[in-house]
Parts: sequence; structure tokens; C-alpha cells
Amino acid sequence: MINPYDDTYFMRKALEEAEAAYEKGEIPVGVVVVINDRIIAKGHNLTETLNDVTAHAEMQAITAAASFLGGKYLKDCTMYITLEPCQMCAGALYWSQISKIVFAAEDSTRGYRKNGVQLHPKTKVTTGILEEEASTLLKRFFIEKRNLN
Ligand SMILES: [Zn+2]
Repeated sequence: MINPYDDTYFMRKALEEAEAAYEKGEIPVGVVVVINDRIIAKGHNLTETLNDVTAHAEMQAITAAASFLGGKYLKDCTMYITLEPCQMCAGALYWSQISKIVFAAEDSTRGYRKNGVQLHPKTKVTTGILEEEASTLLKRFFIEKRNLN
């Protein structure tokens, strides 16, 4: 039997969050946090809505997941993110000691890898799941934003 709860399944859920951000005029980045095939936290970028530069999807989902688990470490959790985390979020993920992250699109300028940030040694990384879909949404957002100005 095929397990329907694979990386693609959960990345689709993260993409739904990114679309929710897009609808609000936010840079479309979405996240879900999963433990034992169950989503325990989700979030999308809200920096404009909240006037808060730290309101990245990952930051909110880390807080929500820790609150759900009743502990600060995200042991046995996987975070699905539609875009490579930035330095700030990678730093927060480091502190969370999360077991695994999966991200869709690369961020060649603001991504943590470009900026030499290390994740926690316990954290596994998978990349490129639904990369095309996630990049297309981001590109659409920036093209439309440019045309408005
Ligand atoms: Zn970030």
C-alpha cells in the first residue's frame, strides 16, 4: 500500500498556506509542521498584515508547534516550507532542534545556505519538493507587485 502522506502531500498543504498569504498581498510563503503524519502547526507570511518583519511563516509555525507539543524542542517534527528559510528562520530552527526540514524553492539571495547559516546537526534537509509550483507563485506575486507600482 502506498502511504498518501508523503513529502509531496504535505508540501501541497504548505502551498495552500502560501496561497493564503498571496491572497492577503503578502509574499507567498507557507509552512506546515508535521509529526507522525499529522499537521500540528501551520502558518504563512504575515509581515505586512502584522507590521512585523519577524512574522515569517516559519517563526509563527515554530511557536505554534512548540505550544501544541508543550515543549520548546521540535523533536520528531518535520517542517515543510515553500521557500528556503532565511537566516533568521534558520537560526530559530536551529534553536528548535527540529528533526527535519523540507523546502520547495531555493532562495539564492536570502536563503540560509547562501548566507552560511548552519542548521542544528540533528536536522535533516530535503529540497526541491514541488519547487516549480512554489517558484511560480512567488514569481507571479513579484510580477504583479511590479506592475502595480
Ligand atoms: Zn525567514
